[in-house]
Amino acid sequence: MTSGTRPSNFITDIIDADLASGKHTGVVTRFPPEPNGYLHIGHAKSICLNFGLAQDYKGRCHLRFDDTNPEKEDVEYAQSIQNDIRWLGFDWNEHLYFASDYFQQLYDFALQLIRDGKAYVCSLSGEEMREYRGTVSEPGKASPYRDRSVEENLDLFQRMRAGEFEDGAHVLRAKIDMANANMKMRDPPLYRIRHATHWRQGDDWCIYPLYDFTHGLSDYLENITHSICTLEFENNRELYDWFLDELGLTDRPHQYEFARLNLNYSIMSKRNLLRLVQDNHVDGWDDPRMPTVAGLRRRGITPEAIRSFCERVGVAKNNSMVEMTLFEHIIREDLKSRAPRVLGVLRPLRVVLDNYPDGQSEDLDSPYWPIDIPKEGSRMVPFSRVLYIEQDDFEENPPPGFKRLVPGGEVRLRHAYFIRCNEVVKDANGDIVELRCSVDLETRGGKAPDGRKVKGTIHWVSAEHAISAEVRLYDRLFSSERPGADGDFMDDLNPDSLERLSDCKLEASLATAALTDRFQFERQGYFCLDTNSTADAPVFNQIVALRDSWAKKAEAAPVKRSKKPAKTPQQAPTMQAESDASKALRNQYAIDESQSRALSKSAAIQSFFETAVGAHGDAKAVAKWMVNELFGHLDDDNDVTALPFDGTQLAALLALLADNTITGTAGKEVLTDMIATGDSPTAIVDRKGLRQVTDSHILQDQVAEVLSNHPDEVARYHEGAKNLMGFFMGQVMRATGGKADAKSVQALLRKLLG
Ligand code: ATP
Ligand code: MG
Repeated sequence: MTSGTRPSNFITDIIDADLASGKHTGVVTRFPPEPNGYLHIGHAKSICLNFGLAQDYKGRCHLRFDDTNPEKEDVEYAQSIQNDIRWLGFDWNEHLYFASDYFQQLYDFALQLIRDGKAYVCSLSGEEMREYRGTVSEPGKASPYRDRSVEENLDLFQRMRAGEFEDGAHVLRAKIDMANANMKMRDPPLYRIRHATHWRQGDDWCIYPLYDFTHGLSDYLENITHSICTLEFENNRELYDWFLDELGLTDRPHQYEFARLNLNYSIMSKRNLLRLVQDNHVDGWDDPRMPTVAGLRRRGITPEAIRSFCERVGVAKNNSMVEMTLFEHIIREDLKSRAPRVLGVLRPLRVVLDNYPDGQSEDLDSPYWPIDIPKEGSRMVPFSRVLYIEQDDFEENPPPGFKRLVPGGEVRLRHAYFIRCNEVVKDANGDIVELRCSVDLETRGGKAPDGRKVKGTIHWVSAEHAISAEVRLYDRLFSSERPGADGDFMDDLNPDSLERLSDCKLEASLATAALTDRFQFERQGYFCLDTNSTADAPVFNQIVALRDSWAKKAEAAPVKRSKKPAKTPQQAPTMQAESDASKALRNQYAIDESQSRALSKSAAIQSFFETAVGAHGDAKAVAKWMVNELFGHLDDDNDVTALPFDGTQLAALLALLADNTITGTAGKEVLTDMIATGDSPTAIVDRKGLRQVTDSHILQDQVAEVLSNHPDEVARYHEGAKNLMGFFMGQVMRATGGKADAKSVQALLRKLLG
């Protein structure tokens, strides 16, 4: 049994069974990176899994560099990998290994296979070997060198090792089966000749073992029990076992495969990440937009957030795409009670308080934490005659509902006073350069003694005390959900992934920020110092925005197919007499006449309906969704044959609704997507992340966030404005993209509002 707190998965099930049956007495895993690039978040998943299992089972996890490819490997990479694993919170202790240290043992294993007639030296060219290999549907054919004698093979292989031949002249191959359905088993190469200097072994070797041969045998040499790799290695397992079996190695490791992490709007291959670095699309492997561990660290994401993300994604046997929004949500969740809240103005607008004495200032004691976070601490924030506020927080011609500063209007300054805007000063171009305002010193702490209310609270800094800094705002590195899906991933780079704001004004306390600190700039997002920051020229990175602005952008994007209003039953042609077909349908399925009329209009519609009912069972639900929703997307004759799906797919959608996997709102969104893409409802639900938020932790956080973003409404609610419940409900539903269960939201709101 695991002693950890992590949830069980199919691998822990296997381990539990192995320990119970006595197949193994302990757990030894390994993480086997190739030192040819920096680690990315996908590797982090494998690290969390392998090191996590070792922790949970009180076993051990080895770090083994798979350094068998001398041309691409580098000590810089090996060092960064060790640094990243430690930073993620894991330790291999004394168990640091290099596959290259096994070169002699691997060579001896190869000699044994040759002596046993299970390996031969093949002298076909690479091109010829590919031709001989066959295809998935055709068997390969035997190499003309397949029947070389053991003596000849031993002689050639030893001379390969001695450096007598040029690169590519010969390879050593396993002698298995050229007709095997598994292409990996068609006499795979074990060794190739490479006259290259190895970063650790120097020029000791000029033959290098290949991955499949090296990997399982290295596992064996280290007494690994469970060798966990990603699903693409499923077909390699047969070969993994073959080497161990043919060499007669008992008490041996076994390979298990799990789903690799795929993250939308991201790429996960070292080769492609290297291209971004080499072509200067990013500022190195640790550019804060990179999905590398080094990039995430520089961005300000904590190891705890990464571990929690890997855990939330889970260990599955099927590949899937994980939503970037989930990662971002977990990052916010992690920072919420970690990052104190401070004031920073990113796009400053000067405000002069005409009735505040020049040269005077005062320190306002300002708590770092909102009431719903059980943490204490505060700092002094200086207040003076000239301030900066955010340009966006003033509107000369405010749209309806604008709650911040307007000409003649009042707004509350966070932790300070109410101010009123008396005059807008513009330059010769008509651009606003300054606001002349007055402060009401009676309103300190944000309340007016006369009970006068203001609608908005904004952030600000004192001009004289603020520090100037550059702030870098990041957006996703790619603008496509699956970069490279329709060609080169480089074409999907988001041109706006970095925005540099060079003249930001931050509260004075940030002058002493340390590299490890993280802050919430109120109403903006989470920030930390960049590693390139200097005392004279501070640079802050945005870790993540406060809210998911991407979802809004996606919503605003034009819908592919315009939706005409659904026909309501009242609009059904009630003038005409009901047909026999309609009557029959109505009697058989107990549906309304307006529905049976619409559903019996053509044989195709009726058959679509009956297929859906056959698959789903609930005729009333099928009728309702077809008539009220589906037909709303179609032209007047409701030609269902033009749809890219049939009744069974509609039934699948209704099943997701019936078991509360998704909300009704989400159901409509899925239907629109099905019509546009023909994708299955489950695929769409997963792609768009529409599963209902039933996880009470996520929901509770979202509810708390809504409350802390609306302090005025919370105060009014407590003063008796109970009808604000509806407002809060609406805000939470918006924050969750309609994915929350309304009843749970209401219960949580009641709880948190007290
Ligand atoms: P890449 O394709 O990014 O270069 P790789 O698999 O070649 O990755 P390795 O250094 O060989 O990189 O990987 C070390 C370990 O990390 C392997 O066990 C591999 O299965 C695992 N791994 C790599 N990518 C992922 C991923 N996206 N999700 C989970 N595990 C991964
Ligand atoms: Mg690899």
